[in-house]
Amino acid sequence: MRAEIITIGDELLIGQVVDTNSAWMAQRLNECGIEVLQVTSVHDERNHIVQALNDALSRADIVLTTGGLGPTKDDITKHVLCEYFRMKLVESSQVKAHIERLYASRPQVLNKLTATQWMIPNGATILPNRVGSAPIMVFPMRTKTLICLPGVPYEMEIAMTEQVLPFLRQRHPSLGTIEHRTIMVSGIPESSLAIMLAEYEASLPQGLRLAYLPKDGVIRLRLSSDGQVPVQTLEEWIDQLQFVVHNYLIVTDDRPLEVHVADALNAHRATLATAESCTGGKLAALLTKHSGSSSYFRGSVIAYSNDVKRDVLGIPEYDLQRYGAVSEQVVRWMAEGVRRITHSDYAIATSGIAGPTGGSAEKPVGTVWIGWATPNGTDATCFQLGKLREQVTDRACQKALIGLLERIR
Ligand code: ATP
Ligand code: MG
Repeated sequence: MRAEIITIGDELLIGQVVDTNSAWMAQRLNECGIEVLQVTSVHDERNHIVQALNDALSRADIVLTTGGLGPTKDDITKHVLCEYFRMKLVESSQVKAHIERLYASRPQVLNKLTATQWMIPNGATILPNRVGSAPIMVFPMRTKTLICLPGVPYEMEIAMTEQVLPFLRQRHPSLGTIEHRTIMVSGIPESSLAIMLAEYEASLPQGLRLAYLPKDGVIRLRLSSDGQVPVQTLEEWIDQLQFVVHNYLIVTDDRPLEVHVADALNAHRATLATAESCTGGKLAALLTKHSGSSSYFRGSVIAYSNDVKRDVLGIPEYDLQRYGAVSEQVVRWMAEGVRRITHSDYAIATSGIAGPTGGSAEKPVGTVWIGWATPNGTDATCFQLGKLREQVTDRACQKALIGLLERIR
């Protein structure tokens, strides 16, 4: 079964909004064994939409669109489809009742523009949109299925989960389930990893596929089955994969590293603090992204200037002058200082040259020292993390978390 996604909206093509809908939808479709052939973004413009529809319907069995279903002038998807299928807009009592109910619980009044939302192409099947006024429309075709969803990501996700996927499963009972298993490795370049895994990959049975997904210095290895391979076989091959890469293996699932850190700290009833120079609080932001973080995260000092390193973290002026802020001695002091003042069990410190300026022959851009203070002592490692500022700081956070996991274990 093959699908295409068309995302509709001028905002997507001027770069004002990033098209996250298609990535999310592709993942869900993939999980049902539906292959996504192409994603197309088009303007809110009649000819452009028609052209995209013709193209997608010529290739795929299922075409999903998002966006352009609002009541304002710029949203034209419904009108274009009406014309495309030679239908007329008629009032739908079902949609009207739904919108009236929706507005009864809202502070806004239902105006004449909103009222156009219950005008529906006659002949289209409507799936309920529990959270919004834009109708989810299914256009009947002989062998193919075209479905239009709202553009607002939150509405689209509820529509997909509660309506569209169950509808597709009912219409195409043969849909399977693609299973994925992911592990994460670090400390080895992608090409070296590929060489290490060449034999493993060559011996994978039909229906299993390995993907390399590098990001911020961590490589996710994802093994997918096409739904025909038993889950047991997939598990056996993921065990085998872990065995081959065991020297570089960090974690054996796809959850973010900070979540693994949280689990490890909670398991030991231990606490953590950070002292951040080059990462500027990014590490603390990652660690507090998930609910429940107060049970293990004590706080952070963003010690960007030498004054703060000295006055708040207690680093001797002499060391700052002698070794420089980006040095083993200073990150060790930073980690110990923040561990002490926050009464934490563990502490991480970062200090580096994120660039693009500030590099030298001795300490080029991308040089980052990371220190870890633990109940068993303090140590630090120097990394070279690239040349782009964002990349350097993102990678530093991942290295810091990996290092902490290793030390807690
Ligand atoms: P509404 O009924 O709210 O008008 P709609 O179906 O008309 O919904 P749009 O008006 O096209 O949707 O988009 C609403 C908002 O949803 C946009 O401003 C944009 O922020 C977001 N959005 C639209 N399409 C996408 C997309 N493909 N990816 C991420 N966000 C999107
Ligand atoms: Mg729009």
